[in-house]
Amino acid sequence: MKVAYYTDMRIILLRFLIVLLVSTAILVPTLTSFPLQEEISWIDTLGSATVSFLVLALLLVMQHLYSNVRIQILIFSGLLIYYVGILLDTIDEIILVNRASEIAEGIALPLGILVSMIGFFFLIRDQRKIRTVLEENKATFEKLSITDELTGLFNSRHFYEQLQSEMQRSQRYERPLSILLLDIDDFKKHNDTYGHIEGDRVLRKLGKLITSVLREHDSGYRYGGEEFTAILPETSEDQALIVAERIREDFKAAEFTPAGEIVSKTISVGVAEFAEKDEISVFIKKADEAMYLAKRQGKDQVAVFAESTVRRP
Ligand code: GH3
Ligand code: MG
Ligand code: MG
Repeated sequence: MKVAYYTDMRIILLRFLIVLLVSTAILVPTLTSFPLQEEISWIDTLGSATVSFLVLALLLVMQHLYSNVRIQILIFSGLLIYYVGILLDTIDEIILVNRASEIAEGIALPLGILVSMIGFFFLIRDQRKIRTVLEENKATFEKLSITDELTGLFNSRHFYEQLQSEMQRSQRYERPLSILLLDIDDFKKHNDTYGHIEGDRVLRKLGKLITSVLREHDSGYRYGGEEFTAILPETSEDQALIVAERIREDFKAAEFTPAGEIVSKTISVGVAEFAEKDEISVFIKKADEAMYLAKRQGKDQVAVFAESTVRRP
């Protein structure tokens, strides 16, 4: 940032120097060599002088434009040429200038406008491109912020947002809604035996499998560590059970080959259907309770939440 600022300062100084040189090169010879006009129109002089100052100000603030060097040079040159024209115009209100100066003014005014307009045309085109890139970046960032990097599934933050809105939808239209909570069995042992990288491979596989089994309106999430969730709109407990069973079977059938061995892993899944009065935490707890029931009953199975599932202290 410091370097960029330093470069900017140099460019500002360079512009300032160019403007100063051009102004001096025009003002000094004209004001010293030619006679004054017999009748000076102060109104015209004031008008032209004001425009000169405005163009001068524009010239010096233009470096703040966010654009590339080519566009900066085009706009600066165009405005500089126009500035020369308008300066000559101001001078000839006061001083009797020669023919060459009149011709120079006649050329500089339209040429300056033309060149700076070309610059502005490119600037507008560039701004459009910049906006497109910014919008693309925003979309990428938004996607990243709801995605779990390892598995490509959504993350837990998105899970809570989506579940909340699906619960509202389910309530409003009185439609069924179910969730799954999936946990890899004895995953710590797998990690400890074969290492973290092999563990990650298992997580990625389960992520892919969840995605492939779920339907278009379902969504899969990495809830945290080796726990996953899925939201199944328009799905009753019985239907959710079938989906859970498919994932469990497919995952069990997958083979991993850490350290040359053939290993298969299993999951325990809890299924819960949304009941109208459920708070989000209650709904998730139901799936959690069901999942722990599956674990208690020997793992590698799917369990459904029922009031009797809950273990009272
Ligand atoms: P249970 O059958 O009861 O579920 O036992 P478990 O060993 O699967 O469960 P536990 O909660 O004891 O262990 C979970 C392990 O998951 C602990 C940790 O090493 C592992 N883990 C969590 N996140 C990651 C991860 O991102 N990558 C890898 N490789 N392992 C992870
Ligand atoms: Mg766990
Ligand atoms: Mg586990």
